[in-house]
Amino acid sequence: MPFSSDPLRITVLGSGTSMGVPAIGCHCDVCTSNDPRDNRLRPSILIRYGGRNVLIDTTPDFRTQALRAKINRLDAILFTHEHADHIMGLDDVRPFNFRQKCSIPIFAAEETLGSILRAFQYIFDERPSESSIPKLEAHVLDGRPFDLFGMEFRPLRLMHGRAKTFGYRFGAAAYLTDHNEIPPESLDQLHDLDVLFLDALRYKPHPTHSTVERSIEIAEHLNPRRTYFTHICHELPHARTEASFPPRIRLAYDGLEIVVGEL
Ligand SMILES: [Zn+2]
Ligand SMILES: [Zn+2]
Ligand SMILES: [Zn+2]
Repeated sequence: MPFSSDPLRITVLGSGTSMGVPAIGCHCDVCTSNDPRDNRLRPSILIRYGGRNVLIDTTPDFRTQALRAKINRLDAILFTHEHADHIMGLDDVRPFNFRQKCSIPIFAAEETLGSILRAFQYIFDERPSESSIPKLEAHVLDGRPFDLFGMEFRPLRLMHGRAKTFGYRFGAAAYLTDHNEIPPESLDQLHDLDVLFLDALRYKPHPTHSTVERSIEIAEHLNPRRTYFTHICHELPHARTEASFPPRIRLAYDGLEIVVGEL
């Protein structure tokens, strides 16, 4: 576990749904809001502990997110699944390869890794390249917990419509984006949490995402100390939506920093 002088920290790099908020061409109240918390890049978090930076997902906004959060090193990337809003920024890890003079380990389920290999064929192609390409070291996750720089990460299977995704538990925190159902064996791994992130797209039902109502039920059932909703669409104005929530349930927002307490 991290030392108390160097606690486990989470930075929310993006809290928005796949199109981001504002959505291109939309003039609704949320997309034109002056509240910075209504500006949502695609969903991702940065986990910092023991001098290491571990990223979950490389969104199409990754370059902007890394500059905004002043990320100066990247030690590993975990992927939740292969949807475009979670992988398409992968090419932008190149500056970290240059700075650190080494490859970056990436971790994903076999099917996710397969999609990443197809989408970014040039990265994994053995032929020499004339241009700079990311240097990555791919690791397949079979669902078993694994150690990363002294902390255990537990991949948790989630249902995302017909697709499957991984959520991750690490220390007293868990990040569960993109799901409409949490199987019982994954729910069992989510007790005694300080911080829980849950997908909560909007109020209206959606075939692949959880709703505000459903995620409030899950949060109340699991009873973590704090719950943050993410993957939020433009139907949820930050201030007004949060005002109706129980006090320990909040909407995540871009730039939110959380120090995870030990239980
Ligand atoms: Zn997504
Ligand atoms: Zn809108
Ligand atoms: Zn998805």
